[in-house]
Amino acid sequence: MKALSLFSLMVVALAACGGSRLAPRVEAPQDPEPVVVPEPAPAPAQPTTDIVITTGVHGNEPSGWLVQDQLFALGFNVFGPCNPWGIQNNKRELEDGTDLNRAFAWEGYAEVDAVKKFLEENPPGLLLDLHEDPNGTGAYLIQNGPDDDIARAIIDALKDEFEFDPEPRSVITGENGLVKPTLQQLRGLLFLKVYGLAVYAWANYACTAIVVECPGAWPEDKRKRYQLRVCEVAREIYAARR
Ligand SMILES: [Zn+2]
Repeated sequence: MKALSLFSLMVVALAACGGSRLAPRVEAPQDPEPVVVPEPAPAPAQPTTDIVITTGVHGNEPSGWLVQDQLFALGFNVFGPCNPWGIQNNKRELEDGTDLNRAFAWEGYAEVDAVKKFLEENPPGLLLDLHEDPNGTGAYLIQNGPDDDIARAIIDALKDEFEFDPEPRSVITGENGLVKPTLQQLRGLLFLKVYGLAVYAWANYACTAIVVECPGAWPEDKRKRYQLRVCEVAREIYAARR
């Protein structure tokens, strides 16, 4: 189980679709009666940071994808769903059964290539990959980036709003909501060539890359709120440090 759990460290994202952006829409009046001018929808904000957010790597973990338009409106740079077929069919894997979040060292996956292209065009300073843990009992973060402490700061800022897992288990066991692989463990994943989006981003862009997890059993509204709050708090902390 130890070796298998090593593989489950990462969570990733690919996206064949870019996600919609909100566009202001003005409707033509239908009659000469009182013309109601609708409030303009928020203009699509241009990304204001080099934080990159990825959603929908696992199609049965949709909360990140479900808040994607809100993240766009907040000015985040978002790519998703990385696994469009999985989102459409409520399946973790790609249509051929491959776990996208294990396939970032492999050739021949359009979904992997799409994520890599997006990252190349939008090099992340910090990456947040939004997932859910179907078996999770509390929220947790998996931070790829051994020398950073931002994930701990995010958890500290949110621990009164959400319940974090005191002993989260991924590839390795963490504590107080945080799983933090060592440099040696990350190098091991690269050597084995079985890794996902976040480890790929860490290895190729020298950025801290965090897999954001919450229990799949949480109500949908809570899962969506959690994803949004993690992104907002991460941006505040990240900006304050630059
Ligand atoms: Zn996942």
